[in-house]
This record gives sequence, C-alpha cells and structure tokens, in this order.
Amino acid sequence: MQYRQSKKFIKIIKWFTGLLVLLLISLFVLLYYETAVTDKADSYVYALPYATGTSHQVVQGYGGLFSHRHIAALDFEMPEGTPVYAARGGTIYSYRDNSDEGGLTGSYKNKANYIIIRHDDGSFGCYWHLQKNGVLVRKGRVDKGQRIGFSGATGQVVRPHLHFSVKTKLTYDKDSFVQTKFNTTKGICILKNRSSYERPAD
Ligand SMILES: [Zn+2]
Repeated sequence: MQYRQSKKFIKIIKWFTGLLVLLLISLFVLLYYETAVTDKADSYVYALPYATGTSHQVVQGYGGLFSHRHIAALDFEMPEGTPVYAARGGTIYSYRDNSDEGGLTGSYKNKANYIIIRHDDGSFGCYWHLQKNGVLVRKGRVDKGQRIGFSGATGQVVRPHLHFSVKTKLTYDKDSFVQTKFNTTKGICILKNRSSYERPAD
C-alpha cells in the first residue's frame, strides 16, 4: 500500500517537474527570442526618453515575441508617474491622456495614452502607455530632452512601462519602423533586450 502511494507520489513529482521545465522554457523564449525587424536604421543619435542620471531596463527589445513581433520598438521598465522626455525634437503630432484603463487582453489595445512627435525629417517618435492626464505638452514644438509627460500602464500592458518607437509611417508594418541609436553612459548604441541604460548629462 505504502509502496503504491510513493509510486503515485513520484509520478506526480515527475509530472510537476515536466510542467515546470516547459513553463520555464516558454518564459525564456517569450523573454529572449527575437523576430526579424526592419534593417532601416536612423543616423540620428536619440536621447534616452527619461531624466539624465537615471537608468531603466529594456524589458522587451526589437522583435520581441511578446508584443513586438517584427516591430522595432523598445519597452523600458518604468514605475507609473516617471517623467518622460523627448528623445528627439519636433512638433506634437497627436496625443491622448484621458484613459485610465490598462490590462493584459486585446480589449485594452485602444486604451493607451500616448504622445506622437513629428520630427523635422518627417518621422514620428511614439511614446505609449502614459498615465491619465500624463501629457504635459499638447501642441507646438518640443526640444530634444524636454519633459513631455509621465509614464503609466494604460492600454495593453502586463506592467507599467514606456513603449518607444520611431516610424516613418504610422502603421504597424515592419518597414514603417526604423532602428534608433541612443546616447548612453556606455556610449552611442542600439539598445539590447534585458540591458539597462543610463542617460548621460547632455
Ligand atoms: Zn512595447
């Protein structure tokens, strides 16, 4: 009887271990696997979209499987209410900051607050998931490094972060996006998934 019970117990442990391994592999693939993105790269050197002297981790990089499939966008981990700064100057093209809804499912996709800045070369800088009433500049020109709003967790999100991308067209086509390099305390570089970057003094 005892022997049968322990056999059953071992079976459960084996099943559980298998499940755990499968979950860990899925999580690893979700966090680290990268799909192909555009080859187009911007020659402009962008400022990190947060305060000088502060550092944030890229929690999803270009082509991330979670929600950046074939798109060259970056997610910076960021507590709600963190000041967001213009990565490049331009004029305010559009914004939204009346939403206070965010969540995991697709039904939240159109609930994000955002700012879109039109750069002087015609490309667009996109800042997504801002907090309610989190837009500081609603029209006119903004300078590179100017404070433009506050981060949040509106729209389709797992946790608070700032989603940033540069596009030549406002669509989700692979080639609407351009890769961008940033000035960081580690030098001028294309940002990598899971790495943290500090914005140096200008
Ligand atoms: Zn994103």
